[in-house]
Amino acid sequence: MEEIYFDNAATTAVDDDVARLACKVMCEQYGNPSSLHSKGVEAQLLIERAKRQLLTALGAKSGKVIFTSGGTEANNLAILGGASAQKRRGSRVITTSIEHSSVIDSAEELKKQGFDVIELPPEPNGVISAEKLLALCNEDTILVSVMAANNEIGTVQPIDRIARSLKRLSPNALMHVDAVQAFGKMPLSVNSLGVDLMTVSGHKIHAPKGIGALYIADKARITPRQFGGGQQGRLRPGTESVPLIAAFGFAAQKAQQNLAENAAMVAKTKAELLGLLGGIEGIVINSPEQSCLPYVLNCSVLGYRSETLLHFLEAKGIYVSSGSACSMGAKSHVLAAMGKTPAEIDSALRISFSKYSTTEQARIFAEQIKSAMQTLRRSDR
Ligand code: PLP
Repeated sequence: MEEIYFDNAATTAVDDDVARLACKVMCEQYGNPSSLHSKGVEAQLLIERAKRQLLTALGAKSGKVIFTSGGTEANNLAILGGASAQKRRGSRVITTSIEHSSVIDSAEELKKQGFDVIELPPEPNGVISAEKLLALCNEDTILVSVMAANNEIGTVQPIDRIARSLKRLSPNALMHVDAVQAFGKMPLSVNSLGVDLMTVSGHKIHAPKGIGALYIADKARITPRQFGGGQQGRLRPGTESVPLIAAFGFAAQKAQQNLAENAAMVAKTKAELLGLLGGIEGIVINSPEQSCLPYVLNCSVLGYRSETLLHFLEAKGIYVSSGSACSMGAKSHVLAAMGKTPAEIDSALRISFSKYSTTEQARIFAEQIKSAMQTLRRSDR
């Protein structure tokens, strides 16, 4: 039975070349980058190379890259550190109600600290209205955080339109973008977007888990969340994980170099699956046609619970998600914010592709969904 892994928004398989590099650095170039001898210098050079690879992939001419343990930590650093650095200039923080939990929970923490946090809901298609968001921006606004692409439905948000007008309306505001799902999958340029802070994560682009980064533009100031050493300009102290950093830099470079080719291949797989699922009665497509990453397809199989479907598919060697991996079975706040019905939310599946996905796998998947609908008992609702 061939394995069909369609859960790439949760995590991706590590690319063989990337794994080999991580292994080589771990076993052979094991110096501490803070050591003054040649082993330390060698490790430091690997970090510098990874930073350059990331800055290039992010379309940044300059700026800092702070390596973290992943997207969650980078989002915490951006939001808590960004708001704290700007707190004398105002108190309004604007985000959306469909962000990843690491943004939502950081924003909740800011609320507890007394910040005036506003969470804008999306339009029914899952896209944030730039006009509505900009209408909330005033001189008191110090931070705006909007994701580039949504992890559950794949919607691409109008970051360019928000960033373009933000500084005029809110001169003191930092613009933060959680680009964990978008990075390496769609063109992103922090310089042309005019973004101050951007979060990225390694394990969504075929690097190992446990590595992410926060891009910080030259002029942006944030305060640290952790203390204890001089590493990474004191913004994220602690000995850097050189093998993971080197692997992330290389994975980012590969993703950037093959971005268009991979996206075109994935778009074919998604189109094939959309065509097949469209012909099955009782399947509702939740991802919009426009403004959506080719990498994510969210649908509801009405009358069948997500978890039951997921385990049926798993028994056939097919792996998908019932929502975001981090919410672990909790009801999707994204589908709820889009105004989806409880029946649609309870039966939602997130199918997410990678460069390794094929149209043949999409055909097998569609067959198995049909078989699930014939075999499983419909749920009561
Ligand atoms: N932001 C988004 C949009 C995500 O999808 C995820 C992970 O699913 C994260 C942040 C968190 O990243 P990490 O798993 O690297 O902590």
